[in-house]
Amino acid sequence: MLFAVLFPLLLLAPFAQSAQVDNVRLWAAPDHARLVFDLSGHAEADIFLLDNPRRLVIDLDDSGLNTELSSLKLDGSAITAVRSGVRDGNGLRVVLELSREVEPRHFTLPPNDQYGHRLVVDMEYPGESAVQNPIDPIEAMIREQEIVASRGSAEGGESTPRAQADTAIASQPAAPHPRRDIIIAIDPGHGGEDPGAIGPGGTREKDVVMEISRRLQRLVDDAEGFRAVMIRDGDYYIGLRQRTRIAREQKADFFISIHADAFNSPRPNGSSVYALSQRGATSETAQWLAASENQADLIGGVDGNLSLNDKDEVLRGVLLDLTMTATLNDSLAIGGQVLERLGRVNRLHKSRVEQAGFMVLKSPDIPSLLIETGFISNPDEERRLRDSSHQQRLAESIFTGLRSHFQSNPPPASLLAWQRDNHRNPSGNEYRIQPGDTLSQIAARHGVPVGQLKQANELNGDVIRVGQVLRIPRS
Ligand SMILES: [Zn+2]
Repeated sequence: MLFAVLFPLLLLAPFAQSAQVDNVRLWAAPDHARLVFDLSGHAEADIFLLDNPRRLVIDLDDSGLNTELSSLKLDGSAITAVRSGVRDGNGLRVVLELSREVEPRHFTLPPNDQYGHRLVVDMEYPGESAVQNPIDPIEAMIREQEIVASRGSAEGGESTPRAQADTAIASQPAAPHPRRDIIIAIDPGHGGEDPGAIGPGGTREKDVVMEISRRLQRLVDDAEGFRAVMIRDGDYYIGLRQRTRIAREQKADFFISIHADAFNSPRPNGSSVYALSQRGATSETAQWLAASENQADLIGGVDGNLSLNDKDEVLRGVLLDLTMTATLNDSLAIGGQVLERLGRVNRLHKSRVEQAGFMVLKSPDIPSLLIETGFISNPDEERRLRDSSHQQRLAESIFTGLRSHFQSNPPPASLLAWQRDNHRNPSGNEYRIQPGDTLSQIAARHGVPVGQLKQANELNGDVIRVGQVLRIPRS
């Protein structure tokens, strides 16, 4: 029993306040806030919620406060005030007053090359999306129509007895063409406590890629038939898997991750374009860069420490195999267009689209690219990456490449597809039937007599199907 009394005394004396909170950082995202305590040593924390008023209590054992909490900028977060006090003689209590319901989670991180010991407190906002402007219900309805239209096209072409019986329905104008926007998901790399690569002049990758991404966002939104969705829309970290999940939620047609990387020597420079490789990197640089980009989650700590999705890895792998080939072909085609445009404004690090196992590109159903806009580790290129007119040129060449691909390969139901089929008919001899079309309208639009149009397509009646391709005879 004597031992039981002595033991805590012996332990407490030398270890009293073994950790100091040297700094506190806050990152406010639309769907969560992350509070990071920079500690002088490892400390365990106890975290719990209290009501009336709503607050989160963070107790750190054997810790003291070595920084000013009042300087913490709380804008955009659910935290309205921060207080601190001493607990049980040598513990630290931090109390966050909250404006809304949160689901707290916490974990500690060991030192890495950028930070020392950290305690990370995540406050998730139930029911919030990570994107500022989630898709509205009308947009969702339009997308439903698109599915109906594409089902129609799958059956199209044959004049079956059932199709004959549908004459009355088919000759009625179908639902109007949705003419939807092509959605480009723009993913500025890194963010929050993950600065990405840091240039010799102190330029942080997360800042320059945000500048370039915002410029790209403006170009996309200003173009008719396109709409941008920002995967990260502020200075906060999002896990790599979460990034592709958001793109899928937003029904993105294309995902583009913007980076500016560093190498372990100052010499390499130039832009590169990457698509996913399932089998391995096409070059050693590609492998090296993929490894360092995938490291982000170890810094950000989201997926690495809160791996909620590891269980469906097998399922994800199967899905990946099923749809990846088609998606990858699209990615490579778009990548080629983007690379060609980038080559006009910047030196190219590699003259073809590279492939490597970037985590952020592992979205089986959405074509995706990762652009290394330049090497921030090269002093000359670091300076250029900070230059606003160079940023604009990079954004413009990325967008021109994208647009050029989608103009020749518009997704069904998109405005660009509608434009291609109605206003322009580049080849001059084919027309894909859209919802709402009738034979006589198509004939009139192409200046061909109906009878000639029917003859050229061996049509007996007036039945046409959405998605069916008609040969337009030369009149
Ligand atoms: Zn990066």
